[in-house]
Amino acid sequence: MTIDLHTHSSVSDGTASPADLVRAAAAAGLEVVALTDHDTTAGWVEAVAAAEECGIGLVRGIEVSARYRGAPVHLLAYLPDPRDQALQAELGRIVAGREERVPAMLARLRELGIPATEAALAEVSPSNRVTGRPHVADLLVRLGVVADRDEAFARYLADGKAAYVDRYAADLISMIGLVDAARGVAVVAHPWGRGSAPVLDERAFAELAGAGLAGVEVDHLDHDAAARSGLRAIAGRLDLIVTGSSDHHGTGKTGHGLGCETTAPGQLRRILDRAAALGSPTGLVGRARR
Ligand SMILES: [Zn+2]
Ligand SMILES: [Zn+2]
Repeated sequence: MTIDLHTHSSVSDGTASPADLVRAAAAAGLEVVALTDHDTTAGWVEAVAAAEECGIGLVRGIEVSARYRGAPVHLLAYLPDPRDQALQAELGRIVAGREERVPAMLARLRELGIPATEAALAEVSPSNRVTGRPHVADLLVRLGVVADRDEAFARYLADGKAAYVDRYAADLISMIGLVDAARGVAVVAHPWGRGSAPVLDERAFAELAGAGLAGVEVDHLDHDAAARSGLRAIAGRLDLIVTGSSDHHGTGKTGHGLGCETTAPGQLRRILDRAAALGSPTGLVGRARR
């Protein structure tokens, strides 16, 4: 069974619509895919319809932008109740913070002499409901200022670069609590990838586990073999669920093809069982025809 538990649609910074993403996952031979757009559940309804149509299992999730001891940490929230008001209110604050940040970054770029207008941005991200730095990066590519998203981040958009603007992020410990209270399953995304590695040591994981963290994403392209074995060992000692995923963004990020990293069936079972035990109304959907 091929299971990929971390993908993005055009609702956040991927390039395919939720329905097309789910269809592409089925066409790629995946049996279960999770849709985990940044800070929103807006793609869920469309993804469910597509999953039921093609008979692929769909796990509904969110990748939440959080912060722990000053460092950015991404938290995957699987199967929470999308009607949970406290969770949605916090997601709303994150999205609002990102939306205020984009005009501020465009203004910095204009100060640098780059014609980065809101109208030009709208042309590169017409269908995106959550805009952010990747879209500004795409605009810089479109304007011929840089060759690709990576260069845009390295030269302008990364923390400390000329057009970087800080923004609101949820506190990681509180967000784990919110996800748990919304009867979802919290898994730290690519913990030893960009940015968060220095703060997420074993003591930190123990603290997070105490706050309700259920799992850790180990098999991710940001992690080399040593990082994976280190994280797997920590997960084993703390009895955390271990996941693996592509972090697919469509054509927006190269090398992250659907199913390039996968999660073991027994680990998915632990996620589904935990959500069910919490009384989550958001189970696995779309497998009826298999
Ligand atoms: Zn991430
Ligand atoms: Zn992601």
